Amino acid sequence: MRSKIVAGNWKMNKNLTETEALVSELVAKVPDTTAEVIIAPTFVNLQSAAKHVENSIIQVAAQNMHFADNGAFTGEISAEMLKDIDVDIVILGHSERRSHFGETDDLLAKKVNQAIEKGMRVIFCFGEELEDRKSGNHFNVVASQLKNGLYALPAEAWSKIVLAYEPVWAIGTGETASPEQAQEMHAFIRKEIEEAYNSGISEKVTILYGGSVKPNNAEEIFSQPDVDGGLIGGASLKCDDFTAIIKAI
Ligand code: PEP
Repeated sequence: MRSKIVAGNWKMNKNLTETEALVSELVAKVPDTTAEVIIAPTFVNLQSAAKHVENSIIQVAAQNMHFADNGAFTGEISAEMLKDIDVDIVILGHSERRSHFGETDDLLAKKVNQAIEKGMRVIFCFGEELEDRKSGNHFNVVASQLKNGLYALPAEAWSKIVLAYEPVWAIGTGETASPEQAQEMHAFIRKEIEEAYNSGISEKVTILYGGSVKPNNAEEIFSQPDVDGGLIGGASLKCDDFTAIIKAI
């Protein structure tokens, strides 16, 4: 059985007071579930969030990290710094990191390797732009993001990898992929990983869908056989919406 996961990417939202309020509300209201529930507040509020979730099923993830152990990398955060505050999950490769901050497949491969070496779990995001889908190039784009970002990993590292397919045209736009489009791509991703590694790995890896998942569409998307949960942006900032999405899984 693959793990089901609902993860909330808070992006650059919520100050400390707001973070504590939302985390406390989530801890009180998170539904009973066998799925993993993860939230990713901004760096400066991770420590507080990690403390607040200590006695709940909620786990805390970072939204990014650097590939080096330490050193002259002004403004950056290392894997050890995250682990030191009990954060051992990191989101890497989000399309906003790729497009606004120039993160390339090569850079992401270094970050993924470092996270794995440090014993962290990685939620690895990837997905095509609208033009790629319109031109029918979406499968090629996704295949190359997977290959360039992840295929240097040894087979045993895959137990620490969660994939998040996020078509860029569906992120924050209110336009979600149809359940059929999500299923088609997730099945393709699983097949690619089977070819690159083996079916043991491809059948076990959790593949999340991300892109305008809301309480009113979550159940339909999550009911697809190769969709193992969601990476949620906007709707993770409201307790009622996020808990409704958790219920949908
Ligand atoms: C995201 O940022 O990963 C995301 C899926 O955002 P939204 O749910 O707002 O589209």
